[in-house]
Amino acid sequence: MPDDDRVYSYSAVLMGSPILLKLFSHNEALAAQVFRLIKQYEDLLTVNRACSQVMDINLAAGKHPVAVSRPVFELIRCAKAASLLENSAFNLAIGPLVKRWKIGFQGDSVPPADEINTLLALTDPTEVVLDEAACSVFLTRSGMEIDLGAIAKGYIADRVRDFLRKQGETLGLINLGGNIQTLGSPEGGWTVGVKKPFDAADALIGSLQIENKSVVTSGTYERYFERDGTRYHHILNPRTGYPLDNELDSVTVISTDSIDGDLWTTLLYGLGVEKGCAALRVRPDIEAIFVTKAREIVFSSMHHFRFTLLDNRYRLTGNTV
Ligand code: AMP
Ligand code: MG
Repeated sequence: MPDDDRVYSYSAVLMGSPILLKLFSHNEALAAQVFRLIKQYEDLLTVNRACSQVMDINLAAGKHPVAVSRPVFELIRCAKAASLLENSAFNLAIGPLVKRWKIGFQGDSVPPADEINTLLALTDPTEVVLDEAACSVFLTRSGMEIDLGAIAKGYIADRVRDFLRKQGETLGLINLGGNIQTLGSPEGGWTVGVKKPFDAADALIGSLQIENKSVVTSGTYERYFERDGTRYHHILNPRTGYPLDNELDSVTVISTDSIDGDLWTTLLYGLGVEKGCAALRVRPDIEAIFVTKAREIVFSSMHHFRFTLLDNRYRLTGNTV
């Protein structure tokens, strides 16, 4: 993006992440409205505090349905549909396992295998019962918990983009802790960095030029802990209850809507490079950049962005699909 004095940056810390807003006009009131909007959605969707609409649903698990606002219902409907896709690595009912592992939070530990198995039994997405007419959600078994952590930022980034557009803005960028959505395109497009896994926070493998697109990255380096020489990261395999184990360090998705990017990074993490590229052949609207542990960078396709390699220790590799 143009590195000039027309760009105004505003920052805040929300959802446990640094939030950055870029505008092409100096408008603190608008920035304050954007941060308020993000906070309102966080207050509805978080499971990291005692109160939210999602927490109301979780606290009523095994007891009764909970009526929620329409946006929360729609987001849960979308998350449930993604969880029911064949071989999906995404599961909105993964909450009991996320809470038990506490990866990225104080008190993290490796749960005993029998406990993982007990908790796995509480993560069946078909037991998240939606009532369209009542706009309510019911978790049929006590101990079940919804966790929207894998898609909430994408959803909120899209709401920020829509809000800015409604306010008459034509250019803007919102970065929700690495989850980026853009409005319009400044001259030369927006430049977005791809982080180098397990390195300094500002170390980049490369940069992307995009216009009017979202860029979302899920990486095992984002949240993890190490115990007895093993690294445990925060993206769990919903079938085993353990962190997903494959060749990847990160997946970046370029898409129009950030919710798609946020969701697809998880789906693609589960699929790995080869199956992931194959799955995207029928989704030209979703493009992915896989970064492997062997320092390879694989693009599923490259129609909606340009990529500049910034670290020569990484190799660009064509996908074989
Ligand atoms: P993201 O940063 O978008 O990759 O999302 C990671 C977060 O999603 C984790 O911190 C958990 O809260 C949640 N999560 C972990 N594993 C899964 C999974 N298999 N399906 C859905 N959500 C998950
Ligand atoms: Mg995600």
